[in-house]
Amino acid sequence: MKECLFCKIVNKEIPSTVVYEDDEILAFKDINPIAPVHILVIPKKHYNDITELPENEAEIIAKIHVVINKIAKEQGISETGFRIINNCKEDGGQEVKHIHFHLIGGKKLGTKMC
Ligand code: 5GP
Ligand code: ZN
Repeated sequence: MKECLFCKIVNKEIPSTVVYEDDEILAFKDINPIAPVHILVIPKKHYNDITELPENEAEIIAKIHVVINKIAKEQGISETGFRIINNCKEDGGQEVKHIHFHLIGGKKLGTKMC
């Protein structure tokens, strides 16, 4: 999508620190990390949010989680643990309207969910 920030990152129109890339998925460091490890994992194909993902394309979410596991191992947080967050729409606190999963770890995270 032309005006989408994350599509621009996918297309390398905006620079990012890429930690993983394949035909369907991109993972890059969050510009404003809230923990020692804070990586965003996105489908390259644009969907505003998780509610827009068609049923027949749901497999991408499983693939993203396989990638998250791989990155967690590489980042050395697979044993200590981490959190995966997907913010959806206004009430979910979503700022960038392109499906993304935050992989957060590298420190003991709080237990507060909201
Ligand atoms: P949301 O609140 O939509 O779930 O999260 C959006 C995330 O994107 C935020 O954590 C924010 O720091 C990150 N972000 C916003 N703009 C950029 C950018 O230009 N580059 C990178 N790498 N991350 C960004
Ligand atoms: Zn997009």
